[in-house]
Amino acid sequence: MKVKEITLIGGGLAGCLLAVFLARRRFPVRVFERLPDMRKHRIPAGRSINLSLSVRGIHALKAVGLYGEIERHLVAMPGRMIHDREGNLLYQPYGRDESAVHYSVERAVLNKILLDGAEAAGAQLFFGEKCEELDFKDRLLQLHREADGHRRTVPFETVIGTDGAGSAVRRVMIVQKGIDCRDEHLPHGYKELAIPPRPDGSFALEKNALHIWPRGDFMLIALPNRDGSFTATLFLPHSGPESFRTLADEPAVLGFFETEFADALPLMADPVHDFLNHPTGVLGTIRCFPWHVADKALILGDAAHAVVPFHGQGMNCAFEDCVVLDRLLDEHEDFESLYLDFEARRKPNAEAIADMALENYVEMRDSVRDPKFHLRKHIEWLLEERHPGRFIPRYAMVMFHRIPYAVAKTRGDIQAGIIERLSKPINRVDDADLALADRLVAERLQPAASMT
Ligand code: FAD
Repeated sequence: MKVKEITLIGGGLAGCLLAVFLARRRFPVRVFERLPDMRKHRIPAGRSINLSLSVRGIHALKAVGLYGEIERHLVAMPGRMIHDREGNLLYQPYGRDESAVHYSVERAVLNKILLDGAEAAGAQLFFGEKCEELDFKDRLLQLHREADGHRRTVPFETVIGTDGAGSAVRRVMIVQKGIDCRDEHLPHGYKELAIPPRPDGSFALEKNALHIWPRGDFMLIALPNRDGSFTATLFLPHSGPESFRTLADEPAVLGFFETEFADALPLMADPVHDFLNHPTGVLGTIRCFPWHVADKALILGDAAHAVVPFHGQGMNCAFEDCVVLDRLLDEHEDFESLYLDFEARRKPNAEAIADMALENYVEMRDSVRDPKFHLRKHIEWLLEERHPGRFIPRYAMVMFHRIPYAVAKTRGDIQAGIIERLSKPINRVDDADLALADRLVAERLQPAASMT
């Protein structure tokens, strides 16, 4: 495919990875990023300090040869540690073997490695340049350098918006092209809190786990960092009895933490100060379509399909977008057909992970406290063992396989029906009717194809 230049708006996670893929194919690539270069300037913590990286993201990073460099910055999380109100701990491994693992990685570390990778592959990076407007008719984009107020208009041939959930490219597509877009805000927001290492540098909680304090309508989670600290995130309703609105002063916040998270409270550096001073993040799902304008523009990653973070898949899905776009470049001669094919393949998957992420919020903050939940998990593992490649728990299909999200959702619904039927009359996994289980699996599930 012939093109003088591909312009990317946004040098975050997806933008940098896509720049690597495109530059490796010898396309001239330039990236305009709103923020200063994070490798040289300290950037205030943005959307989340650390992230869960799983199989889809790892596959993408391996495809561009960057995984080796990233691997040494990861902390393995082979299970979740549930903390109840009384401080009792329950460890739940994600699966029966070591393949059921995801990893905690610091966003800034990952983004810096990707920036280096993009530059090394030949992409041109421009920092501190915010895209404010696009003119699709004349193929012009307007950039604003916030540091000195300088504005300039530059021509583009084709532009890819990798500018995240608040995408300017998407906004212009809505205004100028009338693309359909719904921004579904969650009634919950989030706040990041720090759990520092112990004085001797060790981890204050079990290192190799995703920690969860599920409390019904809200929850606290913590992911490990390489330096012995954890980044904790409190997900809480914006309004209501226990909410960001009601927890407005020191006594209220302290009382809340003492009641709900008594075991975590002494481990936190300054939770009350952090709670009252750190920004409250908003969460939501972006559902928009189409994602392209002729051969002129495409959006991908969060710009096209931001999802709530409860399956740890937003970045992983954005990385998978890059893999798919790269593969489709082999099959297309022009950008319009490339973009059309890309959105046709990715939209159903983006919708599926958006829905599954919302459902997983209920599982994380509530269902994990239900004894029947553990029974259902054990039956899932039993069926997985009896029917490998045919019965794969939905969580595993999303996190530990590259089965398309839409397929994972459809198969997950069928499996949920089987589990419900088997678990309803019993309280112990040993009492499961295995003959019925085998019959239902054979009747309702074909072997799964593990590819995106
Ligand atoms: P971003 O990473 O947001 O990058 C967008 C880039 O564009 C930024 O650098 C921004 O500065 C730049 N930009 C924005 N506007 C402009 C403009 N007008 N002009 C130029 N540049 C611009 N995902 C996971 O996979 N695992 C997790 O565990 C996980 N945890 C999360 C926890 C929280 C609390 C949140 C909020 C999200 C989480 N996510 C997680 C989702 C993940 O952060 C996103 O899916 C991912 O960052 C998407 O990458 P992106 O490149 O599309 O967008």
